[in-house]
Amino acid sequence: MKQLILATHNPNKVREIRELLAGEPVEVLSLSDAGWTEEIIENGETFEANALIKAETVFKATGRAVLADDSGLTVEAMGGAPGVYSARYMGEEVPYSVKNRAIIDLLARVPDKGRGAAFECVMAFVRPDKKGRPVRKTARGKVEGRIAREPAGSGGFGYDPIFFLPEKNCTMAELSAAEKNIISHRGRALRAILPEIVKWSRN
Ligand code: IMP
Repeated sequence: MKQLILATHNPNKVREIRELLAGEPVEVLSLSDAGWTEEIIENGETFEANALIKAETVFKATGRAVLADDSGLTVEAMGGAPGVYSARYMGEEVPYSVKNRAIIDLLARVPDKGRGAAFECVMAFVRPDKKGRPVRKTARGKVEGRIAREPAGSGGFGYDPIFFLPEKNCTMAELSAAEKNIISHRGRALRAILPEIVKWSRN
């Protein structure tokens, strides 16, 4: 059975990816399962760069197959911000109720057609070839919506309560976890990279 390290401490991501790989000959390990305690500095300027930094850092240290993701919210009226700084926007420790209110206030005078936003995610899969050299694959997922006038819903996390999905007529935080996984940037990116992982695991 092949082992795949997920370069994340987020138990929700680990669970989600275990579910998607159920039935494949892959044992999914979290960073803590793999004994990893160091912090990984994400200083890239794109989601792809950061996902690769995370995957390659763990690959270099362990020589084993790694899957990493990087994601965030981009807001048109904010010139694409907070983007790769989504977690750090206004400060890492600031609660999302405050960050979400600040974005709504910033867009107070912006009409619906200028409120476009997207959640984006890049998955990076780095595995050793027969000589132990890295083979890199990336895949992206995106979901488009707009910034709501008021926060709504208690599901999900982060910016979900202010991310309005016109086709569902509700925010991301008003969806069930299963519904979110189907349409989310992370679910889409994961399903896009999945064939690479399955191919490798069966080899
Ligand atoms: P990371 O990819 O786990 O580092 O997430 C980056 C940041 O983007 C998170 O801390 C959130 O601020 C935001 N973000 C990413 N995905 C989501 C999501 O599905 N819902 C809400 N916020 C998200």
